[in-house]
Amino acid sequence: MLIKVIDGLYGFIWDDYSENNCNTYLIDSSKKILIDPGHAHLFGHVKRGLDILGMSLSEIDIVLATHGHPDHLEAALLMRDTSRLAMHRTEYDYILELTGSTSRKSEPDIFLQEGGLDLDDDHFEVIETPGHTPGSICLYWPAKKVLFSGDLVFPQGVGRTDFPGGDSGRLKESILKVMNLDIEYLLSGHGGVIAGKKPVQENFRVIQDYWFRYL
Ligand SMILES: [Zn+2]
Repeated sequence: MLIKVIDGLYGFIWDDYSENNCNTYLIDSSKKILIDPGHAHLFGHVKRGLDILGMSLSEIDIVLATHGHPDHLEAALLMRDTSRLAMHRTEYDYILELTGSTSRKSEPDIFLQEGGLDLDDDHFEVIETPGHTPGSICLYWPAKKVLFSGDLVFPQGVGRTDFPGGDSGRLKESILKVMNLDIEYLLSGHGGVIAGKKPVQENFRVIQDYWFRYL
């Protein structure tokens, strides 16, 4: 389902729970950035949304992966020849270790690291948030008060830490690192969009009160 979050920001929200796929987001600003394109065989739902927006795949400048799980990253390979791929170096190394793949096709063009990321007129902050995977990141867009949280936190939930490389203590530290940011829109890898500062804060409160007991 394609939704417009705000001007220049769209969500391709995955609402078919019979398949494991992630939400994809499009920043349509000075650069066109597609965040977490999802599984390759399920990419049709993003493609249909782009069609509605009158945008072709080749117009995407950057595909950014919050982390390297296939339900987030796999479809990036479909845009490999026309878009640049951005990911944290730790995450790339982690995927190589897991898959043993050394295919140049999956090698990022941009290695993300903690701190500012300036793309033409837009300023973003890359926040290293390990726990779900060793090189997971959140992307914060201060001008719009948007946090793309990947699989760190969801509506009423937190990312799994029982996969290889998962670490619940680090996940908790990562959540503490982002929860006091000024956030109007929490755009997570799975589940719905949380809009409004109060609902976002309430969601972090639930996570702290309930989920922190298990981390
Ligand atoms: Zn994941």
